[in-house]
Amino acid sequence: MKTEAALIKCDSYDRNKVFSAVKKAVDSLGGVQKIIRPQSRVLVKPNLLMAVDPASGVVTHPEVVRSVIRLLKEQGCQVFVGDGPSVWGGHIENVQDVYKQTGILAVAEEEGAELVDFDKRRWRENYPLTRWLDHCEHLVNVPKFKTHGLTLLTGAVKNLFGLVSGTYKTEIHKKFDKTDDFAKVLVDIYQDARPGLTIIDGILSMEGEGPGTSGKTRRTNFIMAGSDCVALDSLLAVLMGIGPMDVPTNRIARDRGLGVTDIAEIKILGEELKDVFSGDFLLPQTSIRKRIPQPIINLLKRFIKYYPSVDRIRCIKCSACIKACPSKVISMQKKGIVFDYSGCIACFCCQEVCPAAAITLKKSIFTKIVGL
Ligand code: SF4
Ligand code: SF4
Repeated sequence: MKTEAALIKCDSYDRNKVFSAVKKAVDSLGGVQKIIRPQSRVLVKPNLLMAVDPASGVVTHPEVVRSVIRLLKEQGCQVFVGDGPSVWGGHIENVQDVYKQTGILAVAEEEGAELVDFDKRRWRENYPLTRWLDHCEHLVNVPKFKTHGLTLLTGAVKNLFGLVSGTYKTEIHKKFDKTDDFAKVLVDIYQDARPGLTIIDGILSMEGEGPGTSGKTRRTNFIMAGSDCVALDSLLAVLMGIGPMDVPTNRIARDRGLGVTDIAEIKILGEELKDVFSGDFLLPQTSIRKRIPQPIINLLKRFIKYYPSVDRIRCIKCSACIKACPSKVISMQKKGIVFDYSGCIACFCCQEVCPAAAITLKKSIFTKIVGL
Protein backbone atom coordinates (compact mmCIF):
# COMPACT_ATOMS: atom_id res chain seq x y z
CA MET A 1 0.00 0.00 0.00
CA LYS A 2 1.26 3.48 -0.87
CA THR A 3 2.18 6.04 1.79
CA GLU A 4 -0.51 8.72 1.96
CA ALA A 5 -0.04 12.47 2.17
CA ALA A 6 -2.75 15.11 2.10
CA LEU A 7 -2.24 18.36 0.20
CA ILE A 8 -4.94 21.00 0.61
CA LYS A 9 -4.99 24.55 -0.72
CA CYS A 10 -5.42 27.38 1.78
CA ASP A 11 -4.78 30.98 0.73
CA SER A 12 -4.88 32.87 4.04
CA TYR A 13 -4.59 32.60 7.80
CA ASP A 14 -8.28 33.35 8.25
CA ARG A 15 -9.26 31.21 11.25
CA ASN A 16 -12.10 29.36 9.57
CA LYS A 17 -10.20 28.77 6.34
CA VAL A 18 -7.21 27.32 8.17
CA PHE A 19 -9.36 25.05 10.33
CA SER A 20 -11.27 23.83 7.31
CA ALA A 21 -8.01 23.06 5.42
CA VAL A 22 -6.37 21.31 8.39
CA LYS A 23 -9.52 19.26 9.07
CA LYS A 24 -9.89 18.34 5.41
CA ALA A 25 -6.27 17.21 5.30
CA VAL A 26 -6.57 15.08 8.43
CA ASP A 27 -9.98 13.69 7.44
CA SER A 28 -8.61 12.59 4.09
CA LEU A 29 -6.04 10.53 6.01
CA GLY A 30 -8.88 8.77 7.85
CA GLY A 31 -9.55 11.31 10.61
CA VAL A 32 -7.62 12.28 13.69
CA GLN A 33 -9.08 9.38 15.73
CA LYS A 34 -7.44 6.90 13.34
CA ILE A 35 -4.01 8.26 14.27
CA ILE A 36 -4.35 9.73 17.77
CA ARG A 37 -6.08 7.80 20.55
CA PRO A 38 -9.03 9.77 21.97
CA GLN A 39 -8.52 11.07 25.55
CA SER A 40 -4.73 10.70 25.22
CA ARG A 41 -1.97 13.16 26.13
CA VAL A 42 -0.54 14.83 23.04
CA LEU A 43 2.53 17.01 22.59
CA VAL A 44 2.14 19.53 19.75
CA LYS A 45 5.48 20.74 18.37
CA PRO A 46 5.36 23.81 16.08
CA ASN A 47 8.43 25.55 14.66
CA LEU A 48 9.05 28.49 17.02
CA LEU A 49 12.59 29.34 16.02
CA MET A 50 12.69 32.77 17.59
CA ALA A 51 10.63 35.61 19.08
CA VAL A 52 9.17 37.14 15.92
CA ASP A 53 5.80 38.06 14.50
CA PRO A 54 4.31 35.15 12.49
CA ALA A 55 4.01 37.49 9.47
CA SER A 56 7.81 37.12 9.18
CA GLY A 57 7.29 33.59 7.84
CA VAL A 58 9.90 32.31 10.31
CA VAL A 59 7.55 30.42 12.65
CA THR A 60 4.53 28.15 12.36
CA HIS A 61 1.49 30.42 12.27
CA PRO A 62 -0.59 30.35 15.49
CA GLU A 63 -3.81 29.78 13.51
CA VAL A 64 -2.42 26.48 12.24
CA VAL A 65 -1.53 25.52 15.81
CA ARG A 66 -5.02 26.57 16.96
CA SER A 67 -6.61 24.28 14.36
CA VAL A 68 -4.48 21.35 15.48
CA ILE A 69 -5.38 21.95 19.14
CA ARG A 70 -9.09 22.11 18.27
CA LEU A 71 -8.98 18.83 16.33
CA LEU A 72 -7.27 17.14 19.27
CA LYS A 73 -9.65 18.67 21.81
CA GLU A 74 -12.58 17.33 19.80
CA GLN A 75 -11.16 13.88 20.61
CA GLY A 76 -10.98 14.71 24.30
CA CYS A 77 -7.17 14.85 24.24
CA GLN A 78 -5.08 16.72 26.79
CA VAL A 79 -2.91 19.01 24.67
CA PHE A 80 0.57 20.30 25.50
CA VAL A 81 2.33 22.75 23.18
CA GLY A 82 6.07 23.40 23.24
CA ASP A 83 9.28 24.03 21.35
CA GLY A 84 12.92 24.65 22.14
CA PRO A 85 13.82 27.79 20.15
CA SER A 86 17.34 28.30 18.79
CA VAL A 87 18.72 30.72 21.33
CA TRP A 88 17.16 29.47 24.47
CA GLY A 89 18.21 29.93 28.04
CA GLY A 90 20.48 32.80 26.98
CA HIS A 91 20.17 36.44 27.96
CA ILE A 92 18.34 37.60 24.86
CA GLU A 93 15.46 35.29 24.20
CA ASN A 94 13.66 33.01 26.51
CA VAL A 95 10.96 30.61 25.62
CA GLN A 96 8.23 32.71 27.25
CA ASP A 97 9.12 35.69 24.99
CA VAL A 98 9.03 33.37 22.01
CA TYR A 99 5.58 32.04 22.95
CA LYS A 100 4.28 35.56 23.44
CA GLN A 101 5.65 37.20 20.31
CA THR A 102 4.78 34.34 17.98
CA GLY A 103 1.14 34.43 19.15
CA ILE A 104 1.27 30.88 20.54
CA LEU A 105 0.68 32.03 24.13
CA ALA A 106 -2.64 33.67 23.20
CA VAL A 107 -3.78 30.67 21.16
CA ALA A 108 -2.89 28.18 23.90
CA GLU A 109 -4.78 30.23 26.50
CA GLU A 110 -7.83 30.63 24.26
CA GLU A 111 -7.95 26.94 23.31
CA GLY A 112 -7.15 25.45 26.72
CA ALA A 113 -3.80 23.89 25.84
CA GLU A 114 -0.87 23.87 28.24
CA LEU A 115 2.33 25.59 27.13
CA VAL A 116 5.43 23.70 28.25
CA ASP A 117 9.17 24.27 28.09
CA PHE A 118 11.78 21.65 27.39
CA ASP A 119 14.11 22.14 30.35
CA LYS A 120 13.61 18.61 31.74
CA ARG A 121 15.35 16.09 29.54
CA ARG A 122 16.26 12.44 29.07
CA TRP A 123 19.59 11.57 27.49
CA ARG A 124 19.84 9.45 24.39
CA GLU A 125 23.21 8.39 23.00
CA ASN A 126 24.16 11.77 21.55
CA TYR A 127 21.60 14.27 22.73
CA PRO A 128 18.94 14.95 25.37
CA LEU A 129 15.30 15.10 24.26
CA THR A 130 12.52 16.77 26.21
CA ARG A 131 10.84 14.67 28.91
CA TRP A 132 7.50 15.74 27.49
CA LEU A 133 7.99 13.04 24.87
CA ASP A 134 7.90 10.48 27.68
CA HIS A 135 4.91 12.12 29.34
CA CYS A 136 2.77 12.24 26.19
CA GLU A 137 1.40 9.26 24.29
CA HIS A 138 1.50 11.03 20.93
CA LEU A 139 3.56 13.69 19.21
CA VAL A 140 1.98 15.94 16.59
CA ASN A 141 4.60 17.74 14.51
CA VAL A 142 3.57 21.14 13.07
CA PRO A 143 6.48 22.46 10.97
CA LYS A 144 6.85 25.51 8.78
CA PHE A 145 7.96 25.02 5.15
CA LYS A 146 11.24 26.92 4.75
CA THR A 147 14.61 26.73 3.07
CA HIS A 148 17.65 26.02 5.23
CA GLY A 149 21.30 26.86 4.48
CA LEU A 150 22.62 23.64 6.02
CA THR A 151 19.93 21.04 5.30
CA LEU A 152 18.35 22.66 2.19
CA LEU A 153 14.86 22.52 3.61
CA THR A 154 13.34 22.56 7.04
CA GLY A 155 10.09 20.68 7.08
CA ALA A 156 8.88 17.51 8.75
CA VAL A 157 12.14 15.87 9.93
CA LYS A 158 14.22 18.98 10.65
CA ASN A 159 11.47 20.51 12.81
CA LEU A 160 12.06 17.75 15.36
CA PHE A 161 15.49 19.22 16.19
CA GLY A 162 13.59 21.57 18.51
CA LEU A 163 12.87 18.56 20.77
CA VAL A 164 16.53 18.70 21.83
CA SER A 165 16.62 20.24 25.25
CA GLY A 166 18.06 23.73 25.76
CA THR A 167 21.43 24.81 24.47
CA TYR A 168 22.47 21.25 23.54
CA LYS A 169 21.43 22.13 20.00
CA THR A 170 24.54 24.29 19.79
CA GLU A 171 26.69 21.42 21.07
CA ILE A 172 25.29 19.12 18.39
CA HIS A 173 26.13 21.62 15.65
CA LYS A 174 29.66 21.75 16.99
CA LYS A 175 30.12 18.01 17.38
CA PHE A 176 28.50 17.04 14.07
CA ASP A 177 29.80 19.83 11.87
CA LYS A 178 29.54 17.98 8.51
CA THR A 179 26.16 18.18 6.84
CA ASP A 180 25.71 14.41 6.57
CA ASP A 181 26.73 13.84 10.19
CA PHE A 182 24.29 16.50 11.35
CA ALA A 183 21.59 15.00 9.12
CA LYS A 184 22.20 11.60 10.73
CA VAL A 185 21.45 13.13 14.14
CA LEU A 186 18.23 14.64 12.75
CA VAL A 187 17.20 11.22 11.46
CA ASP A 188 18.14 9.64 14.83
CA ILE A 189 15.77 12.12 16.49
CA TYR A 190 13.03 11.32 13.97
CA GLN A 191 13.53 7.60 14.60
CA ASP A 192 13.29 8.19 18.33
CA ALA A 193 10.40 10.67 18.46
CA ARG A 194 8.30 9.28 15.55
CA PRO A 195 5.42 11.78 15.39
CA GLY A 196 2.10 10.07 14.70
CA LEU A 197 0.90 12.99 12.65
CA THR A 198 2.62 15.89 10.89
CA ILE A 199 0.74 18.96 9.67
CA ILE A 200 2.86 21.42 7.68
CA ASP A 201 2.16 25.15 7.52
CA GLY A 202 2.85 25.90 3.85
CA ILE A 203 0.56 28.90 3.57
CA LEU A 204 3.25 31.57 3.94
CA SER A 205 6.58 29.84 3.36
CA MET A 206 10.18 30.95 3.11
CA GLU A 207 12.59 30.79 0.19
CA GLY A 208 16.17 31.96 -0.35
CA GLU A 209 18.37 32.28 2.70
CA GLY A 210 16.04 30.68 5.25
CA PRO A 211 15.26 29.64 7.90
CA GLY A 212 15.64 32.96 9.78
CA THR A 213 14.90 36.55 8.88
CA SER A 214 17.39 36.54 5.98
CA GLY A 215 14.98 34.42 3.91
CA LYS A 216 12.18 35.80 1.74
CA THR A 217 8.55 35.04 2.46
CA ARG A 218 6.68 33.33 -0.34
CA ARG A 219 2.94 32.63 -0.57
CA THR A 220 2.60 28.94 -1.34
CA ASN A 221 -0.94 28.49 -0.01
CA PHE A 222 -1.11 24.92 1.21
CA ILE A 223 -1.47 22.67 4.21
CA MET A 224 0.21 19.28 3.94
CA ALA A 225 -0.36 16.37 6.34
CA GLY A 226 0.69 12.78 6.78
CA SER A 227 2.39 10.28 9.06
CA ASP A 228 5.54 9.63 7.01
CA CYS A 229 7.81 12.65 7.55
CA VAL A 230 10.25 11.44 4.89
CA ALA A 231 7.48 11.28 2.29
CA LEU A 232 6.30 14.77 3.29
CA ASP A 233 9.83 16.19 2.98
CA SER A 234 10.16 14.48 -0.40
CA LEU A 235 7.03 16.28 -1.59
CA LEU A 236 8.36 19.59 -0.23
CA ALA A 237 11.61 19.00 -2.13
CA VAL A 238 9.71 18.55 -5.38
CA LEU A 239 7.73 21.73 -4.70
CA MET A 240 11.08 23.53 -4.26
CA GLY A 241 12.21 22.26 -7.65
CA ILE A 242 14.84 19.83 -6.35
CA GLY A 243 14.89 16.05 -6.03
CA PRO A 244 13.96 14.21 -2.82
CA MET A 245 17.47 12.73 -2.73
CA ASP A 246 19.02 16.22 -2.69
CA VAL A 247 17.82 16.53 0.91
CA PRO A 248 20.43 14.91 3.18
CA THR A 249 17.93 13.68 5.79
CA ASN A 250 15.92 11.96 3.06
CA ARG A 251 18.98 10.06 1.81
CA ILE A 252 19.82 8.83 5.29
CA ALA A 253 16.23 7.99 6.24
CA ARG A 254 15.72 6.09 3.00
CA ASP A 255 18.88 4.04 3.62
CA ARG A 256 17.51 3.14 7.06
CA GLY A 257 14.12 2.18 5.61
CA LEU A 258 12.37 4.92 7.57
CA GLY A 259 10.15 6.41 4.89
CA VAL A 260 9.26 6.78 1.25
CA THR A 261 11.26 9.08 -1.03
CA ASP A 262 9.93 7.81 -4.35
CA ILE A 263 7.17 10.26 -5.32
CA ALA A 264 5.46 7.56 -7.40
CA GLU A 265 5.00 5.56 -4.17
CA ILE A 266 3.20 8.42 -2.40
CA LYS A 267 -0.55 8.69 -2.79
CA ILE A 268 -1.34 12.40 -2.71
CA LEU A 269 -4.83 13.14 -1.41
CA GLY A 270 -6.36 16.47 -2.43
CA GLU A 271 -4.47 18.72 -4.81
CA GLU A 272 -1.90 17.64 -7.35
CA LEU A 273 1.62 18.94 -6.71
CA LYS A 274 1.67 20.91 -9.96
CA ASP A 275 -1.49 22.83 -8.99
CA VAL A 276 -0.25 24.17 -5.66
CA PHE A 277 1.97 27.07 -6.65
CA SER A 278 3.95 28.05 -9.69
CA GLY A 279 7.22 29.80 -10.44
CA ASP A 280 10.79 29.10 -9.39
CA PHE A 281 11.45 28.64 -5.69
CA LEU A 282 14.60 30.45 -4.56
CA LEU A 283 17.06 28.02 -3.00
CA PRO A 284 19.73 28.97 -0.46
CA GLN A 285 23.09 29.91 -1.99
CA THR A 286 24.63 26.80 -0.45
CA SER A 287 22.20 24.49 -2.23
CA ILE A 288 24.37 23.68 -5.24
CA ARG A 289 27.13 22.37 -3.04
CA LYS A 290 24.65 20.19 -1.15
CA ARG A 291 23.49 18.64 -4.40
CA ILE A 292 26.93 17.66 -5.72
CA PRO A 293 27.74 13.97 -5.09
CA GLN A 294 29.77 13.51 -1.90
CA PRO A 295 32.89 12.01 -3.61
CA ILE A 296 33.23 15.14 -5.76
CA ILE A 297 32.63 17.36 -2.74
CA ASN A 298 35.38 15.47 -0.90
CA LEU A 299 37.80 16.32 -3.72
CA LEU A 300 36.82 19.99 -3.86
CA LYS A 301 35.83 20.74 -0.28
CA ARG A 302 39.01 22.63 0.52
CA PHE A 303 38.07 25.09 -2.16
CA ILE A 304 34.26 25.32 -2.19
CA LYS A 305 33.49 27.47 0.79
CA TYR A 306 30.77 29.74 2.08
CA TYR A 307 31.29 32.13 4.95
CA PRO A 308 28.96 34.32 6.97
CA SER A 309 29.41 38.04 6.51
CA VAL A 310 27.80 40.89 8.40
CA ASP A 311 26.00 43.93 7.02
CA ARG A 312 27.07 46.47 9.65
CA ILE A 313 24.33 48.91 8.71
CA ARG A 314 21.60 46.38 9.42
CA CYS A 315 23.29 44.91 12.50
CA ILE A 316 21.63 46.04 15.74
CA LYS A 317 24.47 44.62 17.88
CA CYS A 318 22.20 42.28 19.83
CA SER A 319 24.93 39.58 20.13
CA ALA A 320 22.50 36.75 19.32
CA CYS A 321 24.94 35.40 16.72
CA ILE A 322 27.78 35.37 19.26
CA LYS A 323 25.70 33.28 21.67
CA ALA A 324 24.48 30.93 18.95
CA CYS A 325 27.86 30.22 17.36
CA PRO A 326 28.90 26.68 18.37
CA SER A 327 32.56 27.35 17.49
CA LYS A 328 32.76 30.65 19.41
CA VAL A 329 34.38 32.43 16.48
CA ILE A 330 32.24 35.59 16.51
CA SER A 331 33.15 38.59 18.60
CA MET A 332 31.90 42.13 19.10
CA GLN A 333 34.64 44.63 18.46
CA LYS A 334 34.74 48.40 18.09
CA LYS A 335 33.79 48.21 14.43
CA GLY A 336 31.02 45.71 15.20
CA ILE A 337 30.66 41.96 14.62
CA VAL A 338 33.83 40.16 13.50
CA PHE A 339 34.21 36.52 12.38
CA ASP A 340 37.32 34.41 12.85
CA TYR A 341 36.94 32.28 9.74
CA SER A 342 39.71 29.86 10.72
CA GLY A 343 37.31 28.11 13.13
CA CYS A 344 34.04 28.57 11.24
CA ILE A 345 32.29 25.27 10.52
CA ALA A 346 29.73 26.86 8.13
CA CYS A 347 26.72 25.76 10.18
CA PHE A 348 24.95 29.14 9.63
CA CYS A 349 23.45 29.14 13.11
CA CYS A 350 24.46 32.83 13.25
CA GLN A 351 22.38 33.63 10.19
CA GLU A 352 19.49 31.55 11.53
CA VAL A 353 19.18 33.51 14.77
CA CYS A 354 19.95 37.03 13.52
CA PRO A 355 16.79 39.08 14.09
CA ALA A 356 17.88 41.84 11.68
CA ALA A 357 18.71 39.81 8.55
CA ALA A 358 22.21 41.26 8.89
CA ILE A 359 24.16 38.08 8.13
CA THR A 360 24.63 37.09 4.51
CA LEU A 361 26.80 34.44 2.91
CA LYS A 362 29.96 35.19 1.04
CA LYS A 363 31.72 32.75 -1.26
CA SER A 364 35.40 31.82 -1.54
CA ILE A 365 37.08 32.93 -4.79
CA PHE A 366 37.14 29.33 -6.14
CA THR A 367 33.46 28.92 -5.37
CA LYS A 368 32.71 32.09 -7.33
CA ILE A 369 34.92 31.06 -10.26
CA VAL A 370 33.27 27.64 -10.67
CA GLY A 371 29.86 29.25 -10.31
CA LEU A 372 28.76 27.33 -7.20
S1 SF4 B 1 30.42 31.91 12.44
FE1 SF4 B 1 28.30 31.32 11.95
S2 SF4 B 1 28.56 29.75 10.38
FE2 SF4 B 1 30.56 29.98 11.38
S3 SF4 B 1 30.57 28.44 13.03
FE3 SF4 B 1 29.81 30.35 13.93
S4 SF4 B 1 27.57 30.19 13.75
FE4 SF4 B 1 28.43 28.67 12.36
S1 SF4 C 1 24.72 40.25 13.14
FE1 SF4 C 1 22.57 39.94 13.71
S2 SF4 C 1 22.62 38.55 15.47
FE2 SF4 C 1 24.70 39.38 15.22
S3 SF4 C 1 24.75 41.17 16.56
FE3 SF4 C 1 24.16 41.91 14.55
S4 SF4 C 1 21.93 41.91 14.54
FE4 SF4 C 1 22.56 40.67 16.30
